[in-house]
Amino acid sequence: MSELQLMVLVVAVIYLWECGVWLRRGAVAFRMDARGRWRLHHPATALGNPAGGLVLAPPLPPLGYLIPAAQSPLSVGPDGVFAYVAQCLNPGWRPPQSGRWLPFTDVRDLTVSGRRLRVGKLTLVTTNSLYQAGSLAAQLRELAALPATRREQALAATLRAAFDTAAIQARWQTFAPLARPLRNSCNLLWCYLFLLAPAAIWRFGFLRTWLPVLLVLLAFTITNTVLFHRAHRRLYPMEEDDRLTQDCLILLAPASSARAHDTLARHLFTGFHPLAVAQVLLSPEDFTAFARRVVLELRHPVLPVCPESAPPAALATEAAARTALLGAVTNFLQGQKINVPDLTRPPERAEPACLTYCPRCESQFTTPDGTCPDCNCLPLAKFPG
Ligand SMILES: [Zn+2]
Repeated sequence: MSELQLMVLVVAVIYLWECGVWLRRGAVAFRMDARGRWRLHHPATALGNPAGGLVLAPPLPPLGYLIPAAQSPLSVGPDGVFAYVAQCLNPGWRPPQSGRWLPFTDVRDLTVSGRRLRVGKLTLVTTNSLYQAGSLAAQLRELAALPATRREQALAATLRAAFDTAAIQARWQTFAPLARPLRNSCNLLWCYLFLLAPAAIWRFGFLRTWLPVLLVLLAFTITNTVLFHRAHRRLYPMEEDDRLTQDCLILLAPASSARAHDTLARHLFTGFHPLAVAQVLLSPEDFTAFARRVVLELRHPVLPVCPESAPPAALATEAAARTALLGAVTNFLQGQKINVPDLTRPPERAEPACLTYCPRCESQFTTPDGTCPDCNCLPLAKFPG
């Protein structure tokens, strides 16, 4: 392998690394393809572990976006916070969770450390991103400052805001024109990095071309840094520390610079429920399929619903939070003119011999009763008739 080939290979490997996004289970990613269509992706099981998995952004031009959206990793009630949720948006098992119960009287000394939300020295929960951790910390501080009687009202308002599709649309309308010049520049940088610069070095030799190649590369990374900085300041005005870190990366690492548009999009929908984001971005068919999965999971989470060691107050908080979320999802779907009983009707029988099905994962069985082995002994439901 020549030195030029090795150099291109190293840059390509770093670039592919930049295309990967680690998602904690309980999050999904919306990926835009070359034709501008959005698809839903769950954390990979092959490239992942029980806590999360990798999702790859489209690596070839025209470069699209990859935008994650995550469910809240906390069950919050008027009395306290339970660092546990029974439902998981993704197929398969729920992720490991700390299961810490924290009454609001003990919500003091709340800090954000990277993706972790900490109370004193203890990690309450590991979130999907620094921004989600910050958003949850702000929400908990606000709730802790309220009298208990007003917390229920505040929680209901937070849930309503999480399903506000008009706000999601507005966010996208703000983002799209800000990101367009950056995305164009990223596409040009990709072509320069992987086609033009190697071709110039191959044709004229490294000694004659290294300086002009480097100067053009620098012009690209400076342009991307300026465009990213301006757009980021507008979209995430409070995230100054992260902005500085990303500015440095985009300026000094060409592979990161070629994905700057994606970095800008990554936290766009923090705080919104993934189902509401799906309604805005996905086709009606894909949205309906995802909605069915969300409702079934809320109604029939994998067993045991809660850890056996959880105190009664935590169990009550989990049940109340899941019921409130199911109510919000149902209202939201009705608002989208979706008939929820129709949406959650039993699946079609795969074969006439099938008598029962799992109400969560929808596996079908020929036995007249029993439990689903994939959902930790969740009782099966009978097919009608
Ligand atoms: Zn099942």
